[in-house]
Amino acid sequence: MPDLPLLAWLLILSALVLGILAGHFGWGRRWTRGGSLRGVGARSFGKLHPDYLTGLDYLVTEQPDRALDMFLKLMDASADTIETHFALGALYRRRGEVERAIRIHQNLLARDGLAPEHREQALLALAQDYLRAGVLDRAEGLFQKVAETPRLRASALAALRGVYERQHEWQQALDTYRQLARIKAAPPRLVAAHYLCELAALELERGAIDAARTLLRQARREAAPFARATLLRAQIADRQNDRELAIRLLRSALHECPELLAEELPHLLALAGSEQRDALLAELVAQARERGAGDLKRLVFAAIAADLSGAAPLRDALESVFTQDATLNALWQEGRGNEERVARELGALLNHAERYRCAECGFAARSFYWHCPACQSWQTFESYALVKLR
Ligand SMILES: [Zn+2]
Repeated sequence: MPDLPLLAWLLILSALVLGILAGHFGWGRRWTRGGSLRGVGARSFGKLHPDYLTGLDYLVTEQPDRALDMFLKLMDASADTIETHFALGALYRRRGEVERAIRIHQNLLARDGLAPEHREQALLALAQDYLRAGVLDRAEGLFQKVAETPRLRASALAALRGVYERQHEWQQALDTYRQLARIKAAPPRLVAAHYLCELAALELERGAIDAARTLLRQARREAAPFARATLLRAQIADRQNDRELAIRLLRSALHECPELLAEELPHLLALAGSEQRDALLAELVAQARERGAGDLKRLVFAAIAADLSGAAPLRDALESVFTQDATLNALWQEGRGNEERVARELGALLNHAERYRCAECGFAARSFYWHCPACQSWQTFESYALVKLR
């Protein structure tokens, strides 16, 4: 998560601190009359700890770290500011100053007579600190402990699911998903379907085809149609030398998820073999034309990237895709009589371009991911070069 912009951070912290001060010193009405802080303080708040004012000065002069040190020192000395501790701890964590957040929450937990609900809240906050710091085993243990508290169970399990995802502990992620489903707090079932596919892919890697099939059947019960499961079934068929089935399944996966085209077109054509290649390409072109200009463009780009621009069934498709786009048309007209070279150059560009982008967070990548490495969303990758070149 990016840091808050400095101004937003200052505003939040100022509001927080003013809130505390207003609460402690009954300032509310007087503060709205305006005037400088020191002036007001000098006139009306003789008992105000001078460090508060110093801290606020640091804020005003944009020295948030020094301000935070000051407020932390003051709050360490005060016994009745639990909510403020939580708010400041969360702000530190968001700023990435995790060690300070941990210190705040550990201080809280070390207090005698801390109310049980505050202890649970502090444990949850500390677990989130460890998660942010990347100390996953500690975060996991704490989230598990907090999950026993009914009030915080959904938050703790949701975080725990994230921890297992980051560790690629797919079985545990799935178990946690099921626990969340039981309290009606689970994310969409597509997520469970992906966990099952991750597990199936692992089984496939170790050659356990039957176990992989069982998991894929379960995945399809969670989400259908589900291109990822279809793709894995195509791999199984290929491994078992059932070429026709592998082609059918792969085409079906591409139909369900056209984003896969750039990655999977070469596999599909390899399965078809040189004698069937042109017939297959002609069918794909006809289908893409039916589905619209976007799909035809995606197919043409995938073919160009796979160095297929010379294939006869693509000639008309290349012409219509290039001439319908202002930028591409300029390239195309310049290279008239030498279309294949233009397509090759574009292919080289495409192969080095970040072809995909996460629709959720904007993370761009050259390869397709089912699970965004940046924001951990599932199945949010879309073709990026298409957008950029449009
Ligand atoms: Zn993302």
